[in-house]
Amino acid sequence: MHFKDREAPERVMAITTSISLVVFATIPIYAAAVELYRRPSGHVAEQVTAYALVAVLVAGTVVDRWRTRSDRWGRVNPWYSQFLLAVSVAIVFVVNLTAGGAYGTYHILFLLPMVIAAVMGDVTMISVTWVLSLVALGIVTYVTSDHATDTMAWTLAINAAAWAGAAAAIHLTVRHLISALRVSEAVAELATAADGVDRWPDDLDTCMPLLATALMASSVTIFAGPAGTEPEPVAVHVAPDDGRRPPVGEPSDLTEGVRRALDADAAVDIDDATFVPRRTASGIVVVLAATGRARTVLRASDMSTAIISAQLIAGAVDRVSVIGGLRLEAITDPLTGLANRRGMQLTMERMLGHAARSGEPLSVAMLDLDHFKDYNDQHGHLIGDRALAAFADELSRDIRRQDLAARYGGEEFCLLLPSTDLDGATALVQLIRSHGPGARNEPGPRTGTVTGIDSFAATRLTFSAGVAQWDGHESGEDLIGRADHALYRAKQAGRDAIESAC
Ligand code: GH3
Ligand code: MG
Ligand code: MG
Repeated sequence: MHFKDREAPERVMAITTSISLVVFATIPIYAAAVELYRRPSGHVAEQVTAYALVAVLVAGTVVDRWRTRSDRWGRVNPWYSQFLLAVSVAIVFVVNLTAGGAYGTYHILFLLPMVIAAVMGDVTMISVTWVLSLVALGIVTYVTSDHATDTMAWTLAINAAAWAGAAAAIHLTVRHLISALRVSEAVAELATAADGVDRWPDDLDTCMPLLATALMASSVTIFAGPAGTEPEPVAVHVAPDDGRRPPVGEPSDLTEGVRRALDADAAVDIDDATFVPRRTASGIVVVLAATGRARTVLRASDMSTAIISAQLIAGAVDRVSVIGGLRLEAITDPLTGLANRRGMQLTMERMLGHAARSGEPLSVAMLDLDHFKDYNDQHGHLIGDRALAAFADELSRDIRRQDLAARYGGEEFCLLLPSTDLDGATALVQLIRSHGPGARNEPGPRTGTVTGIDSFAATRLTFSAGVAQWDGHESGEDLIGRADHALYRAKQAGRDAIESAC
């Protein structure tokens, strides 16, 4: 039992409850009107019951209103609303029993609780109210039509269909309105959030969930880069899977979509993904890639929302890029030029999405230089740094274009290997191993100011590695965690070894 939209913002909730309360208020009015106009005929018990129920409904509605206004007990409980709906059905039931007559003049009043349920409730709340009303109508018809079963069946069928039709129309309309309200609210919040972006990339992260809501997408990636270069992902947001979003459709490589949007210099729709390009005043290209989009609102209004959102993000990206030239710095490790941990996480999200859609394997390898502390102690940090940079070069040479080598931490590196299974990943790490960490063959610094030059070239620097293949479900963190565990076992086994995750 729920209201129509569990995640609806407070403002939207207030609107639907207000509409419902207005309709609730009409029920006592109708009940009173019926009581006044019908000839009093001695149904004292029913009359008392009707007024008692009306009193309960009025009191309940006032309490409801007070709760939504004061926010004293938080949001209104859907079960409480369902209870008020049941009371409404009961009032209409008593009115029909005492004043209805054989022509079913007051059957139409059963529509009131249905309308309330359809405005505020989810399908369960609507269905429960529908069933309650039908049962009540069944009893009314049975009593008032001299137990004629054909009349009863006909009345029930006609009313059941009419109520269901009305409820469905209202339900869908309100859902569309809620969704449109949420989008406009998200765009308004995005404008404020984008305006406040000046710490890169943390501030940008606050924009991402709003962007996903505004674009009605399950995931959003921002690509950015200087005009003329291929823009890189600088921020990714994947909405938590709430089981209600449509599955991500056909395999769609984001890079391809980004390229097509830039070529067309206009928003491009590919399957369930939308790519919106924007060029900023200072020559930066920004592309929003929204995937897993739920199409519940007209395409044209979607598009204008997407363009406004892209404009807001482009403004933010432009500002921070101009202020600090921080864009690449945010995702690149300065010593080695490889992706840093953040850059790796961004790429990991994309690769996981691709692997999920295409069914292709994805593997990761964690590499950690052995006894690097001793190496530093022996040769000094400067030579240690050079060794790290040389090892990074070696990694970059050995991997394919679609792979990613990242500096995960101090002397730890991570390889992301799409379309690669465990064997393939192990073979690659063996290849890297056969080439040896670049430091071993790297000529030492030629200046005499750095100590330890003589021993540098002679030192054999090795690494240990853990390899893991994505199991099709786990998160990127879990996958890395398994590779890390395998790496730990390689260290335990005496180092200079490769272990596979189980
Ligand atoms: P193990 O075989 O267990 O991995 O031993 P280890 O010494 O490599 O591992 P440990 O984690 O004890 O030490 C890592 C060392 O890496 C410590 C630190 O001095 C060095 N290191 C981390 N980042 C850098 C860096 O940027 N430059 C240099 N020169 N050294 C670094
Ligand atoms: Mg380490
Ligand atoms: Mg180490």
